[in-house]
Amino acid sequence: MNKTDKILVVGAAGMVGSALVRALLDQGYENILGSINRKVPDFGPTASSRVRLESLDLMDQAAVSAFFEKERPSHVFLAAAKVGGIQANNTYPADFIHANLAIQTNVIHSAYQTGVQRLLFLGSSCIYPRDCPQPIRESYLLTGPLEPTNRPYAVAKIAGIEMCWAYNRQYGTRYLAVMPTNLYGPGDNYDLQTSHVLPALIRKAHEAKVRGDRSFTVWGTGSPRREFLYSDDLAGACVFLMGEAGNAEALFNETEPPLVNIGCGEDVTIAELAGMVAEVVGFKGEIVFDESKPDGTPQKLLDVSRISGMGWRPGVILPEGIGLAYGDFFRD
Ligand code: GDP
Repeated sequence: MNKTDKILVVGAAGMVGSALVRALLDQGYENILGSINRKVPDFGPTASSRVRLESLDLMDQAAVSAFFEKERPSHVFLAAAKVGGIQANNTYPADFIHANLAIQTNVIHSAYQTGVQRLLFLGSSCIYPRDCPQPIRESYLLTGPLEPTNRPYAVAKIAGIEMCWAYNRQYGTRYLAVMPTNLYGPGDNYDLQTSHVLPALIRKAHEAKVRGDRSFTVWGTGSPRREFLYSDDLAGACVFLMGEAGNAEALFNETEPPLVNIGCGEDVTIAELAGMVAEVVGFKGEIVFDESKPDGTPQKLLDVSRISGMGWRPGVILPEGIGLAYGDFFRD
């Protein structure tokens, strides 16, 4: 990937897409195109000559196809997706499978049709079987039943991986699928009904502190284990993989899908996480567990030896990242 290549970030207004644009800007890329569907993100005064943002309805196949015909990017980061926490996935299963299948099918196929050789598709660690051995290696894909609370989303993302692999085999493209662990960072969703656990706990602890409440409530038993990665670290890993590292012969073959896990390699229990959030926020009261809410997968710790073997490491550790995210919560 050269600094003057036309690089498309699909979903540039989202938490991951905006982190990707920031990472590309930081690394000196000059011709960045972002597709957006909602509020226009602000990448700072010096970005305007290097980033162009265009509205695009990714669910509209004809619009996506026309966009690629017109723009003809050389590299594509597919960071757009319908995402949400355990409750959102449970409540809107049809929306999750429909939107994700449509977005990725439209983008991957249009990319192929307009000659895009390198594409990076973002999935999620929930694609792996619910009860698979830990840490989770890329080879565990499709070796057992999925977690029911987010199966429609996971099946859509597995279809995206299969698409990348199928296009590589049939058309000789180099489309890579990356599976990040649970993410958080600037631009996260802090809506308590639809968010993931970390932004939800930041909001709950903060509001409990401000109101002077004696406790705040955490869903489930507190015993599930989760691994967390700061969005800017994920973006750095994706840009790294779009370069030479992600073009390695070994990633593209007939026997295994082109899959790379991205995580920090360590996990915590939800109870430990709640304690860390309370500490960062300065909430001194009690943490209560609502066991009527689902726990979801007991553990999903990624084996990150593939990407660490290529030389990539995350930079932000969890307590520091929670502090950064808490700062962002105030800006939101
Ligand atoms: P998951 O990783 O796909 O299960 O998605 P989440 O990030 O939504 O949930 C992770 C874990 O945190 C689950 O065990 C949830 O029950 C638990 N959790 C505890 N409190 C909350 C909360 O306030 N919101 C969410 N989304 N999850 C919570």
